[in-house]
Amino acid sequence: MRAHNRHVDLPARVQVVEVGARDGLQNEQGVVAPELKISFIEALADAGLPVVEVTSFVDPRWVPQLADAEEVLRGLERKAGVRYPVLVPNERGLDRAIAAGADEIAIFASATETFSQRNLNRSRDEAAQIFAPVAEKAIAAGVRVRGYLSMVLGDPWEGAIPPHEVVAQGRRLLDMGCFELSLGDTIGVGTPGRVQDLIEAFADAAIGPQHLAVHFHDTYGQGLANVLAALQCGVAVVDASAGGLGGCPFAHSATGNLATEDLVYMLDGLGIESGIDLDAVARASTQLCAALGKEVASRVTRALQGRQPGVE
Ligand code: MG
Repeated sequence: MRAHNRHVDLPARVQVVEVGARDGLQNEQGVVAPELKISFIEALADAGLPVVEVTSFVDPRWVPQLADAEEVLRGLERKAGVRYPVLVPNERGLDRAIAAGADEIAIFASATETFSQRNLNRSRDEAAQIFAPVAEKAIAAGVRVRGYLSMVLGDPWEGAIPPHEVVAQGRRLLDMGCFELSLGDTIGVGTPGRVQDLIEAFADAAIGPQHLAVHFHDTYGQGLANVLAALQCGVAVVDASAGGLGGCPFAHSATGNLATEDLVYMLDGLGIESGIDLDAVARASTQLCAALGKEVASRVTRALQGRQPGVE
């Protein structure tokens, strides 16, 4: 049985999945040097992040920022006990990832038909036909597979999605062998009540919170409130992006992954263990953003910078 926090219905420990180096940097306009990506990833692992997503093996013609996927994964000094998953869109990407030493991949699908067509250029059914053999081949090679489902709380073209439809699409990924399903509010429109409705819909379909992670965007300022709502439903894995880097290159309204620092500050305040050193994450994102010539989006890091001019 899960250990509980003294606050009713909160997990004692939360696992944070750091997505900044992939989900964040893939949206940068200028190409970021692989050495900078590597030092950012290593700094995040040193800060205590237990899972640091490294890159994506998509076709570099789609996302030129990720053309250095092999170089980054190979060049990384891996820390014992830390997981380094990579995104894989198809069998070609899987082969590249495995050849470069990946031992965990993530596959991604859309909860809605329209976003599937726009983001993947194929229907949800066609996408499932591509991903099923990828997952099967990965698992046969001893590579763990995580599933991402996007647009779970709303889609810019279709509006709100009925929870049962999200559950049906999520079940497909779990049935392919994904050990965990990350529910993405890609455009950040969700609110806490709808988060809980969705997680309850999964539970009603016999998919408990131990199979789920949440991936929220702070576009409408609901990111942390939505995380808290998910934690209250028993979800204990949360995706976040150091510095609040990134959004979604295919949905213009999507700005702002939930910042890791903002999440860790809340977890610390609630007495929920994450094993993460907040100041160390703030330093890593401050350094990266300085190198990119941009401001850190994380409110917590901005506050820390204001209070301690030395945090640089
Ligand atoms: Mg995201």
